[in-house]
This record gives sequence, structure tokens and C-alpha cells, in this order.
Amino acid sequence: MQQWDVIVVGAGAAGLMCAIEAGNRGRKVLLLDNGKRPGRKILMSGGGRCNFTNIYSSPENFLSQNKHFCKSALSRYTQWDFIALVQKHAIPFHEKTLGQLFCGDSAKDIVEMLLTEAKAANVQIAMQQQITTVSFADGVYTVTTPELSRQCQSLVIASGGLSLPNLGATAFGFQLAEQFGLKVLPLRAALVPLTWQPSDKAVFEEISGVSLPVTAEANGTLFPEDMLFTHRGLSGPAILQISSYWQPGDNVIVNMSPDTNVAEFLASQQQAHPEQEVKTALAKLLPKRLVEKLLELKVFTNQPLKALNPKSIKQLADSLHGYIFKPNGTEGYRTAEVTIGGVDTDGLSSKTMEAKQQPGLYFIGEVVDVTGWLGGYNFQWAWASGWVAGQYC
Ligand SMILES: Cc1cc2nc3c(=O)[nH]c(=O)nc-3n(C[C@H](O)[C@H](O)[C@H](O)COP(=O)(O)OP(=O)(O)OC[C@H]3O[C@@H](n4cnc5c(N)ncnc54)[C@H](O)[C@@H]3O)c2cc1C
Repeated sequence: MQQWDVIVVGAGAAGLMCAIEAGNRGRKVLLLDNGKRPGRKILMSGGGRCNFTNIYSSPENFLSQNKHFCKSALSRYTQWDFIALVQKHAIPFHEKTLGQLFCGDSAKDIVEMLLTEAKAANVQIAMQQQITTVSFADGVYTVTTPELSRQCQSLVIASGGLSLPNLGATAFGFQLAEQFGLKVLPLRAALVPLTWQPSDKAVFEEISGVSLPVTAEANGTLFPEDMLFTHRGLSGPAILQISSYWQPGDNVIVNMSPDTNVAEFLASQQQAHPEQEVKTALAKLLPKRLVEKLLELKVFTNQPLKALNPKSIKQLADSLHGYIFKPNGTEGYRTAEVTIGGVDTDGLSSKTMEAKQQPGLYFIGEVVDVTGWLGGYNFQWAWASGWVAGQYC
């Protein structure tokens, strides 16, 4: 029987950060993972360059049943703290857009940085571990794999969400939470492309690859970013963002011309070029292949601009500023970046991430019901929640 002060399950972003902090406090720490190598999601994130944080990160960028829960951790370990760590390791990085910070070379730099820090903190890492049971008696946790049993005072669950099952994602953390009497809020895939209804697929799959700046809105939340038509449905950052707010059966309202008032534009084109066709004028605002599809769908009639009256201009403008898509569903965990829902924060201390009713048991990272927007926010939550747990476990 091995004895440890702390066992952290999950060598991803949150688990590595927590293990480093606990190790730096002199705790004897073991990091266990079911995969072959640590930090696999970090390695493939941000197209291999890891969007490791966002300079504008604040609690407003996170979804949770309790919006206040994330505030404590995010304020005690901020994006600036993580940036300072990246700078300490002389890792090149840059802002891509909207405050999103990416590695200049490779996401490998972030994993190597964390492994260097873990080594310096004397953290032991055991990979390819299949945990069969976890039990608790007399203030001690026993974690059993087919090979051996290990005991610890503090058990930290950092096993992540359900997205990308082929990368080792399991429901372990959610099941363990339930085993110890914590509530798990309903789970669903988020930051995920939305799929077509069959009727929309027949029309729009021909323009897959077309992208345009839009605002996408669902349930009163709106994101201004690019939208991409694909063979399967809608994607691009605006759609990934709105997927976190979309529920089956909801519409997604897309403003296809967020920066130009279509009615004013058409009225001015009508004055300047009365003989010009409506589709030619619209192609100055929107991708030509999309305009052709809108014509096919009878969103407008192609005629000289001079034939439009103020009412028909308004109708056309209204449809482009509020085009309604009714997605069939999402692409699911196969392509989702994150899982919404998870361990109910009501059962956790926001200061330490420890279970209120189960001393010594901690939950951090994506397994908790805190989900960030696209843009480096999910890693910031992993770093911050891992860091705070690391101060107490
Ligand atoms: C393709 C992709 C790209 C992404 N890009 C970004 C990005 O650029 N920026 C950003 O902020 N976020 C990004 N994300 C989201 C981000 O990766 C996650 O939110 C973050 O990794 C969560 O950290 P975590 O430590 O909680 O979980 P994870 O990083 O998922 O780590 C969990 C670890 O636990 C292990 N594990 C699971 N079950 C068990 C078990 N039963 N026993 C032992 N170990 C187990 C897993 O193998 C894994 O190593 C991306 C996600 C995906 C899928």
C-alpha cells in the first residue's frame, strides 16, 4: 500500500497546476492519469498552439448555475499570473484576436513548462492508470487500480469533461461525485458546431466553406464573430460561442450584416444605380454564393433596384438582420471543445474547491459546473481552480 499526502486524478491543465502548487507546499503528490501522456488536450488545443488564456478574462465569460462561484478562484489566480509563468519560461506568445493569447511556436511549450514545474515540485506522475475503486474510511482515501492500492489524505478530481472520448475522456469525475453524495448537473456538449435540419442541409451544404462576420443570438445572448457554413451545419466562432446558450428546439437568430444597415445601404444603392439588380447590390455586402442561396430561398426577388419600394426594402433588411436558423442538434462530444454542467458548485467551497460535506475531496477544472466562452477562458478556469485547490489540498 503506497501512502501519499495528495493524489490528483487527471494530468490535464487543472490537475497539473494543482499538483505543482501542492508539491511546492511540500506535500507528497501523485498525479494519476488514464492516458499515455500528460496534457493531451493542451497539446491539441488552439490548432496545436494552445490559446492558453485571455487578457480580458472575467467572471462574465463563464457559464454556471451559480454565476458567482468562479469569482474567488479567478480573482486569486488571474490571467496575469499565468502570463507571468509563461514569461518566466521564455515561451513566445502573441494575441491573436479579442484578447486570445496563443503560443508562438507550439502547445508543447505549455506542457513542457508544466512538467518542468511539476518535476521541481517533486510531483510523481503515473500514466496509464485505470482506477477501479475509490473508498474513504477514517479520513483516508484509498484509490485502487488493478496493480495496487494507494492511500492519501487529499483526493483531487481533475478528470475533465466528456468531450473527445477518443482522447481519454471518461465520466469518472461525475460518477465519483455521485458516489460521495455530490449533485451532478445535467451535461451537454458545448463550443460545438450546430447541425442542419434536412431541409436546410439540402440548400446550404452546397455553400460549405463560405464564411462571413455575423452576430449570432440564442436565448437573449449574442456573439459578434465569424460564422462558417459546413456540410453538416453551422460552425465558426460565433456559432461555437452561441452553442453554449442554445438548447434543442431553439432558434439561432443571425444578423448577416452586423456592421451595415441593409435598408440604408439598399436605398443609397437604389439612388446611385437604379438599374442594378438586387442580387448584385447584395453581393457587395454578403458572399456571392450566399446571396444566390438566399435568392433560391425566395428571401428576395431579383429585380432592378428601382422596383423596390420602402416596404420591400424594409422586409429584405429585416430578414438579413434577423435570419432564423433552426438547428437540428449539435455535433456532440465527438467535436465539442467542452462539457457544460457537471459537479454542482453548491456542494463545493469556492475558496478551496473542497467538497463541503466530504473533507479532503476536491473537484477542479472542467468536471465542475463552470464553463468558459471560446477564447482561452476554459484554460484560465483550469489554471485558477487548480491553483486554489493546490493551496489547500
Ligand atoms: C479540440 C479542443 C481544443 C481546445 N482548445 C482550447 C483552447 O485553445 N483554449 C481553451 O481555453 N480551452 C480549449 N479547450 C478546452 C480545454 O481543453 C479544457 O477546458 C481543459 O483542458 C479542461 O482542463 P481539465 O484539466 O479540467 O481537463 P482535461 O484537460 O480534459 O484533463 C483531464 C485528464 O483526466 C484524464 N482522465 C479522464 N478520466 C480519467 C480516469 N478515469 N482516470 C484517470 N484519468 C482520467 C484525461 O485523460 C485527461 O488527461 C479545447 C478543447 C478541445 C477538445
